Amino acid sequence: MDKRSFIKTGIVGIGGLIAAPLIANARITRYLSSDKPGKFKLPDLPYSYDALEPHIDTQTLTIHHSMHHAGYTKRFNAAVKEAGITGKNVSEILKEVSKYPVAVRNNGGGYLNHKMYWKVMSPKGGGKPTGELLEAINNSFDSFENFKNEFTAAAKSKFGSGWAWLIVADGVLKVTSTANQDNPIMDVAEVKGFPILCIDVWEHAYYLKYKNRRADYIEAFWNVINWETVAFKFNKATS
Ligand code: MN
Repeated sequence: MDKRSFIKTGIVGIGGLIAAPLIANARITRYLSSDKPGKFKLPDLPYSYDALEPHIDTQTLTIHHSMHHAGYTKRFNAAVKEAGITGKNVSEILKEVSKYPVAVRNNGGGYLNHKMYWKVMSPKGGGKPTGELLEAINNSFDSFENFKNEFTAAAKSKFGSGWAWLIVADGVLKVTSTANQDNPIMDVAEVKGFPILCIDVWEHAYYLKYKNRRADYIEAFWNVINWETVAFKFNKATS
């Protein structure tokens, strides 16, 4: 029995003993993500799986992190190895992603995008930004409300799977969206820039709770946005 089929069998065996809620168990997360050790690691969430209730439900967050993000991480490591890429961080790889096989683009994007998505949310999130970030939003969009409407529209209207973004491009803030797991730092992105806020609009990000009501998920997302993190990224992008 090779390692992969041993692990699959192992998981089936464990599945018989452990009920679905225990998927959240950190030991299982490590187990699932440990069969192909690589340079890029699945980051821990900066909060517990139930911390964003009721806006982002526990089951969605658990599966999204421990299965989807773990999967992108695992496949990104494999794709990087396969492409013979060494000595580069994920940003450096994605900035020249057109040079590499599509598995690097899809899984590297999936790896980095989710890392950012967890960080721009917080159980203490919501409300409005302040200071220089709010000023920049007012300068670029006339008002916070206009920005909120534009970002919401980009997220709602993204056809199929993808992401909506707030980016810094040429010193101004812009709302944009990408398909699949593309990121605005990629050389293949139509609108390029440094992302400071993102929302995942793949169905796996909301379907268990919101079903086909993507708009309700997007509205709920405003209650968990971690503006401190967004402001930190804004400062990094503009300094
Ligand atoms: Mn996702």
